[in-house]
Amino acid sequence: MRSTTAYQATTPGSTLERVTIERRDLRSDDVAVRVTHCGVCHSDLHALGASESSAFPVVPGHEFVGEVTAIGAAVTAFAVGDPVAVGNIVDSCGSCPMCRAGQENFCQKFPTLTYGGRDRLDGTLTHGAYAAEYVVRDRFVYHRPPGLDPAAVAPLMCAGITVWEPLRRWQVGPGTRVGVVGLGGLGHLAVKLAHALGAEVTVFTTSPSKSEDARELGAHHVVVSTDEAAMAAVANSHDLVIDTVSAAHDLTPYLATVALDGTLCSLGHLGTVTIETTALLVGRKSLSSAGSGGRPATQDLLDFCGRHGITADVEVLPSSAVATALDRLARNDVRYRFVLDLTDLS
Ligand SMILES: [Zn+2]
Ligand SMILES: [Zn+2]
Repeated sequence: MRSTTAYQATTPGSTLERVTIERRDLRSDDVAVRVTHCGVCHSDLHALGASESSAFPVVPGHEFVGEVTAIGAAVTAFAVGDPVAVGNIVDSCGSCPMCRAGQENFCQKFPTLTYGGRDRLDGTLTHGAYAAEYVVRDRFVYHRPPGLDPAAVAPLMCAGITVWEPLRRWQVGPGTRVGVVGLGGLGHLAVKLAHALGAEVTVFTTSPSKSEDARELGAHHVVVSTDEAAMAAVANSHDLVIDTVSAAHDLTPYLATVALDGTLCSLGHLGTVTIETTALLVGRKSLSSAGSGGRPATQDLLDFCGRHGITADVEVLPSSAVATALDRLARNDVRYRFVLDLTDLS
């Protein structure tokens, strides 16, 4: 086994402590990554807030970057020193229809999560990347554009890919009209990516104060969603609306802004929602969802961001300030993503 330093919570309600954990010895298709930066995702807060003790210990962290420090005997796609990135999935069955379609994120035998998952071979609990080192199967490691700020690349691996898949699925490009609901970690990346794809971008926000930020990120229009007249003015005018809001809310006002044959893609885990089907019938509209991304789309995203110079807007904190990052994220006090600098761990 390989020892590494990590931040771990041992029981529900306990705080993260700096501890030594064990990673597996490299299998023939494994890559060891020296983690330099890891984004702080809302999922990390959920995992740490879980009440079942069976889910613990928890080492959070599932959007990270670093450099390859060792490779297994059968690894050919990576070499020591390569700049890489890893997201929220580290394995899948590889043979079900979802995996064969390059949608490992929807693996019918359930993808192995980067933390809080079970390794497919030895059954051990996976530990995330709030750590100095991560050991991961090569198929779930991605080449990272070396010209981009590594700290600002990390959030692409969860927040970024989650908005990228719908943008690609609905073929967003020049002439497409895209709406983005919410301007947080996911939303700000949706705006940047949709803009870079050539779309005309509208941001829907409840906070008029975010208008200037939205335009700086690349939005062409900003609509305050509580302004009924402004909402009515953009009725039936978007080919794709990506709703990034995770709190329970009514989808109907956003469906109203979708154009003929357009789609509202809701990315929040909203549970049960109620829709008057007439809101879909008139205009033959679709309601969809998405989450995370498969291997082809993930590398596609990183390559696209390399070509267009796109990264997340981040606030980088030393890993020793992890409690501050989680605390502020819980209060939504972040623009737009916290990233931990883990180079202070040995
Ligand atoms: Zn995440
Ligand atoms: Zn599968």
